[in-house]
Amino acid sequence: MAEDNRAGASDSLAAKIRPIKLLLFDVDGVLTDGSIFLDESGRETKRFDVKDGAGIKMAQWCGLEVAILSGRESGVTARRAEELGIKRIVQGALDKGPALEGVLQEAGVAGEETAYMGDDLLDLPCFGRVGVTACPSDAHPMLQREADYVCQRPGGLGAAREWIEVVLKIQGKFDGLVSKFKEGITNA
Ligand SMILES: [Mg+2]
Repeated sequence: MAEDNRAGASDSLAAKIRPIKLLLFDVDGVLTDGSIFLDESGRETKRFDVKDGAGIKMAQWCGLEVAILSGRESGVTARRAEELGIKRIVQGALDKGPALEGVLQEAGVAGEETAYMGDDLLDLPCFGRVGVTACPSDAHPMLQREADYVCQRPGGLGAAREWIEVVLKIQGKFDGLVSKFKEGITNA
């Protein structure tokens, strides 16, 4: 009989998620909808989702590390990472496979202890190197075929939050977190 893992995930997905210690995210198309706003002076802005940000904080409160691996170099991404307390951030990494290996080495975690969320072909080298993979609902079709978990939400609009809650539920951390919210998170 299928195990009740509280996240509606299959037993095989749950088995991949349980050892996860590091949640690694691509940025454009995952933590954003992929839009990049440029003004005439070249100043860049992007739009992030506050619920995704809250999800990242929740993961950190539950003892998971969150890190960023982006193919583009953006001051906006660095600013958002700083705001969310994300210390491990690699940008301008077009060849994401070796970049991911570097992140794992620095973080001291194994591939099987790492979850990666990406949305485009550039992310495929990471998919073969980690324990579990996820993508937003609007990811490239190939990513959707390869991912262990395809979100119902699109990139930049709750996909990251959805994925984090799946991980926390399967790891048995979500209910405790909700209790802490009810008590008042400052007491957590
Ligand atoms: Mg992307």
